[in-house]
Amino acid sequence: MLGKMVKVLMACSVESEAAIEQALRNHAAGLAFHRIYRINDLHRTLAEGDWGLVFCDLEMSDFTALDLVTLLFDEGIDVPVILINGTGAKAISIRCLEFGICQFIERDEQYLQALPLMVDILLRRAGQDEDRRLMVTRLRESEERYVDIFDNTNDLIQSLAPDGRFVYTNRTWRETMGYSEEEAQSLSLLDVLHPDSVMCCQDRFQRLLEGETLSCITFKFVAKSGETIHLLGDCGSIVKNGGATSTRGIFKNVTDTVRAQVALTITEARYQALYENAPDIFSTINAAGEILSINNAGARMLGYEVAELIGESAAKVIHPEDQQAVFACIGQRFGNPAAECDIEYRKIRKDGSILWVHQRATLETGVEEPRLLIVCRDVTDRHILEAQLAYQASHDALTSLINRREFERRMQRLLSGQANQTDRHALCILDLDKFKIINDSCGHMAGDELLIQIATLLEGQVRARDTLARLGGDEFAILMEHVSLEKAAILAEKLRSTIEKFQFRWHSQIFSISVSIGVVSIQHGESIADTLNRADMACYGAKKEGRNRIRS
Ligand code: GH3
Ligand code: MG
Repeated sequence: MLGKMVKVLMACSVESEAAIEQALRNHAAGLAFHRIYRINDLHRTLAEGDWGLVFCDLEMSDFTALDLVTLLFDEGIDVPVILINGTGAKAISIRCLEFGICQFIERDEQYLQALPLMVDILLRRAGQDEDRRLMVTRLRESEERYVDIFDNTNDLIQSLAPDGRFVYTNRTWRETMGYSEEEAQSLSLLDVLHPDSVMCCQDRFQRLLEGETLSCITFKFVAKSGETIHLLGDCGSIVKNGGATSTRGIFKNVTDTVRAQVALTITEARYQALYENAPDIFSTINAAGEILSINNAGARMLGYEVAELIGESAAKVIHPEDQQAVFACIGQRFGNPAAECDIEYRKIRKDGSILWVHQRATLETGVEEPRLLIVCRDVTDRHILEAQLAYQASHDALTSLINRREFERRMQRLLSGQANQTDRHALCILDLDKFKIINDSCGHMAGDELLIQIATLLEGQVRARDTLARLGGDEFAILMEHVSLEKAAILAEKLRSTIEKFQFRWHSQIFSISVSIGVVSIQHGESIADTLNRADMACYGAKKEGRNRIRS
């Protein structure tokens, strides 16, 4: 009859027991009978559990069937109970009905014949109930497991009804979107879709309902706070009886990544704009000195198009005199990235003009072929200014001859660099005679003009190797290299005679000019100041003797 032994609790009189056992004698092998007669035994015995069937008289010596049924109900013991009619007050059997006990049997041979069938039915039904209970328990456990997994994942999980209402959202979904579970239940897709995503998501939703599966889709939601949430994930539909009953979606919140990407794109675009338009030349070159890249503005500064320079040697735009130094610097940078190797040099533009640059190079790491990122700043203006300042510092502003400072420096250079100490040189000091008369009679401007004309005159007379300077006022000096004192005196005489023949015109006036000259030989070992002093004295002597003459 049954697979396993069924525990049968007999709470009935000896007569009832005998009648039941007699009726179930063919089931005896599958049934284990336990008998109780008193209420104390009832409590203890029920607690042993695992009862398959209970027979009970309506009234026992110290308890009734109602006590037993109540106890079973209170303890939550679900077991079929068969009450034996005619063993107590009818009222008890009626009260038992209220607890769902509806199996009664007469203790009568005729009725008891039906007992085996009744027991079979009850036990089978109890077995089915047990299976159902087990299934429900398992289902609940399984549901709890899934809910737990869904709620504890970092992904947003949702399920939508065909009309777009949210039928399920997991905890991450609700926390990300800022809605409570109740609020989420009253939302529909359009309530949370970002305006940018409405069009594409409506189309996708339709496709899902038609049974399509969508992978790696991206779209945007708007959270309750108004924040835009970027999502990436997969969707599908839950199909029942050939139709989609709902859609399911599992998404990752990629807002941070998207924001980072946007920021990166902006930074890259900004960098690109800076790179292309910066007023500096940005280029990369390889170890062979080939130009790998150059920015637009940089190429333009050199008078080229970018395409004209890519693949060319960097030498193409470097002044030939500077190439050796620049390539030495570049080679050093490739060999020792830490070494300082800033350099200033001349670049050559396409039109041949010069561009002074300050170059700084950095070795790029993390690339297949080592290369230098080279930044060149245009320093041409500074170089021009420096050259101007250097010129001004060494030249006389009025006549453009070199000034006293530069003259003394050149004298010093000549003396200190004297290869042959027996070599002779001479120094002439020339001072115009009565120059003040011009100033006093015609004005300072006339005096200036005379000084300029005398400077030009002298420049035309001195030898190529000689150094002519204006020492100040109406005083000029000539450093004559590799000449004897006698030869110097002859040259000085030539100058004197030229000036004597010269006539200075100022408006309608004509002036004759003369000059007094002191000539001395430069003696090795004598200081410059002493030499100049001797020449001054000689000139002074010429003045004193009547001017327009030479003294040595
Ligand atoms: P001497 O025959 O003794 O040389 O007399 P001098 O009149 O030539 O006067 P001196 O050489 O003693 O002085 C030169 C004068 O030149 C003094 C000054 O008034 C004038 N002077 C100095 N520098 C300038 C200048 O840049 N421009 C003009 N116009 N005059 C100058
Ligand atoms: Mg003078």
